[in-house]
Amino acid sequence: MGNIIDGKNVARNLYDQLKEKIDRLKESGKSITLAVVKVGDDAASEIYVSNKKKICEKIGINSRIFTFPPDIKEDKVLDLIQILNEDPEINGILVQLPLPKQLNERKIIENIAPNKDVDAFSYINVGRFVVDSSIKEALLPCTPAGIMRLLDFEDIDLSGKHCVIINRSNIVGKPLAMLMVQRDATVTICHSKTRNLNDICKTADIIVSAVGRRNFITKDMVKEGAILIDVGINRDSNGKVCGDVDFQSVKDVASFITPVPGGVGPMTIAMLMENTLKAAGAQSKSDEI
Ligand code: NAP
Repeated sequence: MGNIIDGKNVARNLYDQLKEKIDRLKESGKSITLAVVKVGDDAASEIYVSNKKKICEKIGINSRIFTFPPDIKEDKVLDLIQILNEDPEINGILVQLPLPKQLNERKIIENIAPNKDVDAFSYINVGRFVVDSSIKEALLPCTPAGIMRLLDFEDIDLSGKHCVIINRSNIVGKPLAMLMVQRDATVTICHSKTRNLNDICKTADIIVSAVGRRNFITKDMVKEGAILIDVGINRDSNGKVCGDVDFQSVKDVASFITPVPGGVGPMTIAMLMENTLKAAGAQSKSDEI
């Protein structure tokens, strides 16, 4: 059986480190604040926002949640973003996605000041790290950065490895491909129009699946000893959360595998917290942060 990569544990370690830094800052009278903008009452968004709030409390980041009704006009959201951009007390701004249809998601994200865009979804942040993700203060998209942190935790060297990423979204597949290439991996990005996906997966040293379909990756698609990173969040027939990978059978051929829940998910939130601290550091130009 392959090693199970314990994302909860890696996230916990990171929280301990972040909390130590935040405690030190508090001693010198500084505080860190994350603003979360939520529109409507989407059940999944409620859970995501409440989880983020809980983690903020746990590590000592102040969180301010701003909730708009589902039919809010775009200019009202943009006005709030402007206020938050200009408020020196606010270090990070996150707009919980998805947004209702009348709102232009891209326009709203692009209005967040780049140095407060802790999800790192804006063109400027994506563009900067595509050119050079080694810039220390660069805000990196949370899920790809969290995946890289998990691989680092297990001392997995990417150099020369063939990484197959099944996802081409702007928040997962594309940025992750860039991070992996910068670590000297050979990357193949697959999507719904990819032909011979099974054959391509069979050649992978690392498979990252972010499709959103349970049991999408089966044992016959996986080379013996491959590393499986499961980003998908789905429900099984009993309503339990599960990933894209048929965990029970694939774990026997994989050398490392992330579980769902408890793999990539906790790392996504952990990287958001790290980004918030990084953003505060860059804003204050202080070496303390
Ligand atoms: P998305 O934008 O819909 O991306 C899904 C990707 O899967 C697309 O690139 C799509 O291809 C591809 N795909 C769909 N069917 C396929 C098929 N039959 N063969 C090959 N590729 C196929 O969704 P997303 O927002 O990136 O999220 C994907 C999944 O990851 C969801 O389950 C989501 O909940 C989860 N997620 C988890 C985290 C976390 O922190 N754990 C973070 C983000 C997302 P096309 O581009 O051609 O449509």
